[in-house]
This record gives sequence, structure tokens and C-alpha cells, in this order.
Amino acid sequence: MRLPILLGFQAALALFSVTEARNDADEFLERAIKLMEDTPLLDTHIDLPQIVRSLYRKPLDGLAKLNSTFPGHVDIPRMREGRLGGAFWTVWAPCYDVTGDDPGADFLNPTDHLRDALEMLDIIQNMISLHSNDLQYARSSDDVWAAFRAGKIASLIGMEGTHILGNSLGALRIFAQLGVRYLTLTHTCHSAFASSCGPGTPVPQAHEGNALSELGVELVRELNREGIMVDLAHTTIETMKQAIALSEAPVVWTHAGARALWDHPRNVPDEVLALIGDGPGQKDGVVQSIFFPTFIGPYPGSNVSHVADHIEYIAAKIGKNRVGIASDFDGMYLTVDGLEDATKYPNIVAELLSRGWTDDEIRGALGGNLMRIMDAVDAVSARLKKERLPSSAIWEKRTDLPSTKWGGGGQHNVYWPPDVKAAVEKMYIRHDEL
Ligand SMILES: [Zn+2]
Repeated sequence: MRLPILLGFQAALALFSVTEARNDADEFLERAIKLMEDTPLLDTHIDLPQIVRSLYRKPLDGLAKLNSTFPGHVDIPRMREGRLGGAFWTVWAPCYDVTGDDPGADFLNPTDHLRDALEMLDIIQNMISLHSNDLQYARSSDDVWAAFRAGKIASLIGMEGTHILGNSLGALRIFAQLGVRYLTLTHTCHSAFASSCGPGTPVPQAHEGNALSELGVELVRELNREGIMVDLAHTTIETMKQAIALSEAPVVWTHAGARALWDHPRNVPDEVLALIGDGPGQKDGVVQSIFFPTFIGPYPGSNVSHVADHIEYIAAKIGKNRVGIASDFDGMYLTVDGLEDATKYPNIVAELLSRGWTDDEIRGALGGNLMRIMDAVDAVSARLKKERLPSSAIWEKRTDLPSTKWGGGGQHNVYWPPDVKAAVEKMYIRHDEL
């Protein structure tokens, strides 16, 4: 009769440890939720606007439905359940590899990108005002706290890719006025400004050194002046290095992982992480860890623990005060186990707690680290606005400036006062003589 007794004991023991583990997990989850109720979790990349635009012929008509179950990973009830404190809503339009458009060797072929970017911003603005009980616009860290304390989800604006800027620093400055808080220097395509790491496979080089163009150098200076965070996700290693060296303000990766853990060009390599910090030759910055399985590890099989591995790896390299969280929700076709939608944010926080992260370290990873960077970027902007004027640089390949046809083209020689007409004609002559 010994055998059944032994089995019974082992079964009881097994049951005991399962219960213990469950109690621990519950405890970490409870602590996670408590922390998320006193410090906002700021997710730096959510693509919800593209879902609205993809589903509705009249996108504004879709916004009311965000109050209930909405397709994709995110809607207001699920963000609330997941205790999301704030989000950067993404202004984006797809690159040429998706649209099939040809930008031309000089990036001069007309596209709809600039219009589409403005429409995405319009969707975000209308979403925030329609759901003012749940969402509150924020640009600064003070705004984030104000929204959070008012019980709202802080709503910030990020812009992904410079192919949507119409090659124009003037357009950038207007986007700054409209509240864009970070600019990803590329998406999956090169632009007139910067070189991209491509859609997973490298794309033929467009700029010298596979890095920034001359205008891209001006762009980084202008982002610093405007107080827009320089986001290096999606860029080549060479773009990252050049931008880090150039930027007078801290830099960010709004959604990326660690390349040493999973060798994908979207992840940050050690040689670049080595440039982030407060030592000599280093720059401050944060890497916000992404949930997109393709960048995390083998699929299927990637789970919340793998995402935490990326966060911990990056933290070990550059400090726990330089990491954060970025889902890429609504911008990916796969999800990792345990982070399937916006209800699941507490799982990643609980996972870090189970690995011994202190409450203060967690507060940093939730949003404190990023808000420190936002404050530093704002301080640099305030200084630079006193020190220099906006950049007057234009894309050097442009052929439309000065606009010598605007007042005198065709049969409609009516929009120029006579002295302007004379000056333009003199310019024509000079040009012909050349
Ligand atoms: Zn992205």
C-alpha cells in the first residue's frame, strides 16, 4: 500500500508548488497594476490610426466605435483594462515597397504621402477630441502627468518615416506645430533625408556611407531645434551612428529590440548601444522594447519572457534608466504569447518584477526614463531656438525653386507686380547666359 500513499504525497506536493507559483504570479501582477496606477505606462508606438484608415472609407466615421470592441489589438476598453497610461499614436503612410510607387533616383516623383500623413494626424486629433473622457492630448512630460492624474490616457503624436515629409524641412516645422513629438528617420525605405535598414532585407544604397544625406544632417539639427525626438528605429547602423554623433539632444528607438539576442536589422546592435550613456563620446537615449515577434525570437514560441529578455539585455548594456516599452500594436500581424493585445500590458511589468526589478526601476521603464529624455530634448530645443534661426536648407535635387513660373507661367501673366516680373525675367536671362 506504500505506492498509492507516495503518489498521493507527490501529487499533493506538485499541487502545492503549482499553487505557490500561481500565488507568486498573482502577487507580481497585483504589484504591476499598482505601479501602473501611480506611474503612466507610455507605449511609444501604436498604429491604431492606420487600422481606422484601413477599415473605413470615411475614417472619421469609424472613431466612435473605439469605445467598444474594435478590430486589431487596441480599443478604449482594452487600453483601460490594460492600465495603459499613455500612447504615441503613429502618423505613417506606407513606403514604396508597399505602395509600388517609384520615388525616382532623386526622390522627386510626386506621391500622396504628405496628404496621407496630414490625414493620419487629422484622425488622431479627432480621435482625441471625440473620446475626451478617455484620451487627452499631451506633448510634454507635464502634459502626460496632467492627463494621467485626470484619469485619461495621455495621447502623444509620433511620426514614422521621412518619406512622408515631401522632402521639406518647412513641412517638418509645421508638423512640429501640430504636436509631432518624435520623428523616425526612416520607415522601410530610404528618403531624401536618411538611409533605412529596409523591410527585413537590405535595400540598395541611396546616400553616401548608407547614412544621412546633407539634408538629413540639417534635419537632425532642425529636430533638435524643434524639440522633436530623433528616433533611430528602422534606420541603418550608419544612420544611427551619424545621427547619434550629430544630435545635440538625446536620441530614442521608439520600437526596437536587441540585435545580439535576435539577429534582425530592425534591432539595435551592441556597437550602437555602446554609444548610448553618459560617458565620454556617448549620448543619452532610450531603447523602447518592441513586442513584434519577428524581432523578438523564434515564432511560434516567443512570449512575454522573451520580450523581457530584450529589455534586460539592453538594460545590462546601457542601464535600466534607458529602457522602456513599445508594443507596435495594430502594426503587426503576429503577437507574442502573453502580449496579445492592449489588455496584456501588466504581464510584461509583472515579468520584470518577477526578475527582481525594484519599484523605482519599473517606474523608469514604464515611462519615467522616456519622460526624462523628453525633458532633455525640450531643454535643448529652448536653448537652440535662442541660438539659431530655422534651417533654410532645401532638398538640393529640387527643380521647382525659385518658383519662376508661379506668376508668369503660360497665358496667365497676372500674378506678379511689374517689378517682381522684371526681376524674375532678369533671373531667366542670367540663367540662360549660364
Ligand atoms: Zn515601425
